[in-house]
This record gives sequence, C-alpha cells and structure tokens, in this order.
Amino acid sequence: MIYLISPDKKQYKANLHSHSTMSDGYRTPNELKEMYKSEGYSILAITDHERPMQHQYLSDDDFIMITGYEGYVRTTADASYDVYSKEIHLNFFARDPMNEKLICFNPSYSRYLIRDNVLDKTERVGSEKRREYCREYINEYIRTARENGYLVAYNHPYWSMEDEADILSYEGIFSVEMCNYGSYLSSGLEYNGALYDKILRSGKKMFCHAADDNHNAYPIDHVRSDSFGAFTMIIPEKFTYESVINAMEKGEMYSSMGPVFYEISVDGDRIHIECSDVSCIIVYTGSKVPCFLRAKEGDHICSADFKIDEKASYLRISIQDERGRWADTRGFFFEEMFGEQIEN
Ligand SMILES: [Zn+2]
Ligand SMILES: [Zn+2]
Repeated sequence: MIYLISPDKKQYKANLHSHSTMSDGYRTPNELKEMYKSEGYSILAITDHERPMQHQYLSDDDFIMITGYEGYVRTTADASYDVYSKEIHLNFFARDPMNEKLICFNPSYSRYLIRDNVLDKTERVGSEKRREYCREYINEYIRTARENGYLVAYNHPYWSMEDEADILSYEGIFSVEMCNYGSYLSSGLEYNGALYDKILRSGKKMFCHAADDNHNAYPIDHVRSDSFGAFTMIIPEKFTYESVINAMEKGEMYSSMGPVFYEISVDGDRIHIECSDVSCIIVYTGSKVPCFLRAKEGDHICSADFKIDEKASYLRISIQDERGRWADTRGFFFEEMFGEQIEN
C-alpha cells in the first residue's frame, strides 16, 4: 500500500502567486505577509511583475516567504498590454532564497524596476535580445530561468488565451495553475481541470497548483476581493525553505479552492480517499469514464473507495464541495507509483 497523500504528514497552506506595491499590487510585502498569516497560511510567494526580490526578512518560525517573480512574453511588437492579444506568464520560484536574478532583461518589460530606480542594482542573466512570442524564444526563456536556479510554473492559461498546443510545446514547466483566483473571479473560467486532463492524457508530466494572484485593489470583505480564493497545500518533509521548494519540485502538493484531502492511498487495484465534506469525489484515469461518487442533494460525502481500471494511464483525484469549489491532486503516473507492477 502506498500513500499519494499521507494522513501523517502535515500540510502547509500556501499562496504561490501575489503582487505587492513593488509592482502593481496595493499592499506592501509586510501587509501581505500579515494578512495571509492571520488567515492560516504558512507560505507566501510575492511574485511581482518582472521584479525578482527576496523577502526573507519577513520569514519567521511559522511562516516562509518564497522568493520569485512573474515574467512574461507578449505578442504585441512593443510589449504593450492588449486585452485582445495572447501572452504567456510564468512564475519563477527560486531554489536559493537570496536569488534575485532577472532573466532575459528587456527594457519594455521592466517598468517597475525603472519606476523605482533599481535597475542598475539588479543582476541580469541570459540573452537580452527583444522578447518574441514564439515557441523557440519562450523555451529559451524557460531554459535560462531553470539554469539560473528557478522552478518555472505556468500561470492562468485561460487569461493568457493560450491553448493546450501552446502549453504542450513548452519544455521545463514543472506545474500549471489549476485555479488562478484573480482570473477565476472575473471570468469564472480559470478553473483548468479539463485542460490539465488534456495535458496528462498527452503524456506530459506536469504538476498542478492554485493561487490567488491577488493585487488587492478591493478590501478583503468586498465581493471583488482577490485574496483567499485559491491555494496550494504543500507537504514538505520539514518546515524549511529548502524542504518546501523540494516538495514543490517533487509534486508533494495539491491545489484547492476550499476542500482538503486527508488521505489518498492505493493498494493493488484499489484507491481510498478521505477528505473534508464534499458533494463529489472523482478519480480521473485518462479514460472517458472517470470513477465517481456523488452525494445526494443537500447531503455530503467525505470518503470513497474505487477499483482502478487496469487500463488507467494515470490517477488524478478531484473533489468538489457544495459551493462548487474544487480541490485537485496532480496526475500520478503508474511507472512512478509502482514501477513495473501495473502494465499500461
Ligand atoms: Zn500574470
Ligand atoms: Zn500575477
């Protein structure tokens, strides 16, 4: 029997995508840390636009700040923002908490470094040729980030107007945003369960996570508040920066908009799931017909047992509560779980 999520390991709540006054957010880094800590979070990544910046002075025994930033490539010739044009946004998470390297500097993307007059203090790495929205350039951009100590995550595919063919052509992305709450709030469409299934069905091994992407233009109690709507539960061996990054890189995490998993175990061809009260529990396997259990209207369920189809190519477990909020594990592929035991 193996655990995909162990009941004995502590889960830490994380927001892996947020913006502060260092770019276009409305709260200072200190305010963001305090508001997330008081809401029960243990981990926060402030990922300001094209502004690599460490905030380790805010880490304490119960709270870890992840260093990183959000980089992007636009289709417009002058890199201007156009709501009708595609673009790609990536979050870079630093393995070394003090890494503040800016990848592939382009002046038209660095407005906040220029605004605050800190460009000449910023370490620049990689090609500084004009950014071009094409697969070759984007893969070079990702590769440069990885070579300089960053994990690269893929942000808000719906908002970016990219499709699965675009995403499948990128190499070196470790995880995709299953839900980006800022974009979900405005569109209702930035829950990416169907897209993630297509990625897994193609055989691409990519994890999933969820985040607020909060800018906090509205107060917390406002209906347009973009905080506390989507998060990642990270399951590190120890509560240290290094251990949290390692857990992310190994996929020891799951995405959620509310519900939580307590246990997922696999024993032979059986899977057992325990979770908070939800309306349905679904196990996707790469087939047309997932395993599922649904509660009657007004009722709830908190566990399920299924027989795994012998032809299943992966396992991915999703739960949804009565408010429509999802939680999702990553895809678990059989060779990784069982070696040769189950033939596909
Ligand atoms: Zn973005
Ligand atoms: Zn963002």
